[in-house]
Amino acid sequence: MPTYKVVVAGSAGSGKTSIVNQYIYGTFDEYSQSTIGIEFSHKDVDGETKISLWDTAGQERFKSMTGSYYRNAHAVMFVYDVSSRESFYSLEQWWREYNAYGNVQKSTAIVVGNKTDLQREVSEEEARAWSVQKSLVYDEVSAKNNDGIERVMCTLIRQMRALPEVKSETVRLQAEPNSDRCCY
Ligand code: GDP
Ligand code: MG
Repeated sequence: MPTYKVVVAGSAGSGKTSIVNQYIYGTFDEYSQSTIGIEFSHKDVDGETKISLWDTAGQERFKSMTGSYYRNAHAVMFVYDVSSRESFYSLEQWWREYNAYGNVQKSTAIVVGNKTDLQREVSEEEARAWSVQKSLVYDEVSAKNNDGIERVMCTLIRQMRALPEVKSETVRLQAEPNSDRCCY
């Protein structure tokens, strides 16, 4: 079964762990602790595809993320908090690090604005413009309200399936392509 490695990047407090927890377990914790966390968790998407989500356990506070984090990643999810301009500005650095350490040619990425349930400091237009400029797909979610997360993962899975290497692997594995499923 193909397993996609998705790396979750973004500043501390942007809601990376909350997005992962909502997607994998369907839960949200208002008082989530950013220092203790699962390093990665798996989800069986549809019996044909497995996703492993790589979340940091607070290391992002110390800017100690290096190449090993991005190694063999199929996708990177750049998360920022729409209620924090600072978290939006820090995307630039995350993006630069991914370009320095990640395998940009063999992976895909998405920018995710989280916490749409809160008062905004960053407009959708501004964040979308930044993403377009970097040739990245943009979408918004609320981990708290479980709004948009499934859609983001669908988009990401589609993007990963379109990667040249994954494509050939998928073609070999799929005897009968199931085309009536919406996104998977
Ligand atoms: P991380 O450091 O990027 O992993 O961020 P966390 O997932 O630990 O979230 C940081 C804080 O933001 C926690 O108090 C979460 O409860 C809160 N949070 C995360 N997502 C949302 C959201 O969509 N809406 C609101 N209102 N709070 C959120
Ligand atoms: Mg976290």
